[in-house]
Amino acid sequence: MLFRDQLQKNLDAVIWRIEQARITVSEHHIVKLVAVGKYTDIDAIALLYDLGQRAFGENQVQQLEERCKLLQELPLEWHFIGTLQKNKINKLIDTKPSLMQSIDSVALALEMDEKLARKNSRMNCLLQVNSAKETSKSGVTPEEAIDIYQEIAERCRHINLRGVMTIGAHSEDRAIVQKSFETTHHIYEFLQKSGATICSMGMSGDFELAIGCGSNLVRVGSALFGE
Ligand SMILES: *Cc1c(COP(=O)(O)O)cnc(C)c1O
Repeated sequence: MLFRDQLQKNLDAVIWRIEQARITVSEHHIVKLVAVGKYTDIDAIALLYDLGQRAFGENQVQQLEERCKLLQELPLEWHFIGTLQKNKINKLIDTKPSLMQSIDSVALALEMDEKLARKNSRMNCLLQVNSAKETSKSGVTPEEAIDIYQEIAERCRHINLRGVMTIGAHSEDRAIVQKSFETTHHIYEFLQKSGATICSMGMSGDFELAIGCGSNLVRVGSALFGE
């Protein structure tokens, strides 16, 4: 099969699965799809754009920078979804991502804020929650998430906090994965009073479950770009 046809098939399948899941929540529940390009090349991203996809996510600053530059003539929306090293903050700011989804500490937020101030810039961000407290994952613990969110909102004038992001628990047990999404969604519900509008949860293997728990942004890689 031609790669374009394969991509079209994958995109249709993912959109259909999102549709089935969101409709069980409410017909008014809108879910945004961010296509994660880390397993694929720039040609596949351009093809997916051609098929109608606009929002793309990268987990490495270097890759984000290269792809933004190479595809700058396309009206794409870029999301940064990876762990951010402090020495890459300036580089990330210069790519002007539409949403940085992975603030994982007050220290990182403060350093980003300082650098944003110096560049007279602002950034839309999410706070990453380590919802199952896994040592392999970045993010703040669920217990401290609300306090940290509010501290960043108060102290970092150049960061616009828009909500929360989590990666579901790494488990074969759906109940454990569901619990991790519910934990993050509870935090999100509380933070809606402080203006949060984005609850980013769900990847290729678990996005229907995440949507069922209230996610309104899914980050999908392999289900789109895999064979
Ligand atoms: C890789 C990645 C994804 C997409 O993963 P798939 O399972 O391929 O859909 C989503 N979110 C983050 C933070 C990632 O690093």
